[in-house]
Amino acid sequence: MTDLSEKSIRANCPHCNHHSFALNHVLKTTENFLVVCDGHPLTQGHILIIPKAHLSCIGEYAPNLLGEFVGLYQRTKRFIESVYGSVSTFEHGIVGQTVFHSHIQMFPYAGPPEAIIPEGDRCFEPIPDISALRGIYKRDGRYLFFSIGRALWIADPSIGVPGFFRERFGKALGNEVRSDWKRMHDNEALMEEGRADIGRLVRAWQAYHRNPHLPQEDRLRS
Ligand SMILES: [Zn+2]
Repeated sequence: MTDLSEKSIRANCPHCNHHSFALNHVLKTTENFLVVCDGHPLTQGHILIIPKAHLSCIGEYAPNLLGEFVGLYQRTKRFIESVYGSVSTFEHGIVGQTVFHSHIQMFPYAGPPEAIIPEGDRCFEPIPDISALRGIYKRDGRYLFFSIGRALWIADPSIGVPGFFRERFGKALGNEVRSDWKRMHDNEALMEEGRADIGRLVRAWQAYHRNPHLPQEDRLRS
């Protein structure tokens, strides 16, 4: 059985090891990034973008890397939104991480930000674009970033606990049972559901990249 303790994950980074469970389903490789299916999807359409280099979070990307990332991020958002009808994203900027190598999480979800941060609007503030995370990280050394549709925010990092956004979005998606990926990893029935979602995502990705102009219903049926 895989050792999923924090100590083991810090010593053997699953995002650096190309044979790890985290990198089983690669959708796309670019010069500096991997686009992969989350091995423990919160819902169908759950994708991660991971830099090949061991960087802690987007805030740590050098400007050239950030430029490549932003293009990939926008294209992946467009894929999720056109296939599944909505898109949300988050990254634990160190705060709340359970894998300590940058990975933005992207999946279909629409709803008000208060559904994710019910602590109130003093606990989150809008940011203009994802590139702003570099300056925020330089200033604060941490962040809790999330987006819903075209709106982006950072939340008060003092409310962050390990797995913070997975728990919040899992609840908002009505799929709380998948929130804790380590518990999901040990639950064969949930992993079976997850594998079926991953299979459908891979097929949707291939169909979309063959013809991005197909109506989305046709894509989901394929
Ligand atoms: Zn790593």
